[in-house]
Amino acid sequence: MRAFADNYLWLAHGRGSARGRVAVVDPGDARPVLAALATQRLVLDCILVTHHHADHVGGVTDLAERAAVPVYGPARESIPGRTVALRDGDRVTLEGLGLAFDVLEVPGHTAGHVAYVGHGALFCGDTLFSGGCGRLFEGTPAQMLASLDRLARLPPDTRVYCAHEYTASNLRFALAVEPGNAELAAYAARVADLRSRDEASIPSSLGLERRINPFLRTREPAVREAAERHAARPLADDVDTFAVVRQWKNEFR
Ligand code: ZN
Ligand code: FE
Repeated sequence: MRAFADNYLWLAHGRGSARGRVAVVDPGDARPVLAALATQRLVLDCILVTHHHADHVGGVTDLAERAAVPVYGPARESIPGRTVALRDGDRVTLEGLGLAFDVLEVPGHTAGHVAYVGHGALFCGDTLFSGGCGRLFEGTPAQMLASLDRLARLPPDTRVYCAHEYTASNLRFALAVEPGNAELAAYAARVADLRSRDEASIPSSLGLERRINPFLRTREPAVREAAERHAARPLADDVDTFAVVRQWKNEFR
């Protein structure tokens, strides 16, 4: 479901007889969650949080109090109402849903950001977006590159549930970096069509992201050469390339 201008709050449904129970990921606002629970007759089982930003945790306290449900979130960040603190390598077993997710620490956007992986889905908050990645508010380019590399190693058919609909503007930038990438151009046209009908471009897939997302492609010669032209200097290594591309995106209009 949607919140604010461009946030997505995802519901993970339980399996089998638990189909009517859900986990909500990153409820920045309680209202759309409560509305969805009421209209779809769903029961909230728990709350999963990726990082501490207000557009991801704003509805946590309200929901947790009304529904008396556990709140899972990164151990290294201050998360309102958190009842289970998660570290890298932890596994979240949601018995009420018949679901389990592996926890990956993916610092960069924030210092303790976590992602949840399971059942062919990746909930990556503001770390990886379709065609882009989160801004480096608390982490270094080296940390973010390492985090994105970890996500990129997941199976290619993994569905990417990121927290924002930034795809169209990300792809405008991606095309500036890699104008010769035919699959990227085709994807940008597909997304433009979806967005013109106000349809979501998410979920994406990791396989697609590896082929079109400049932040997963800093080792591609075309991306590195574009970054060197933009920086007007030779780049030392992959982290240097990543840092230049991230900074270029920050300034891109
Ligand atoms: Zn954020
Ligand atoms: Fe966000």
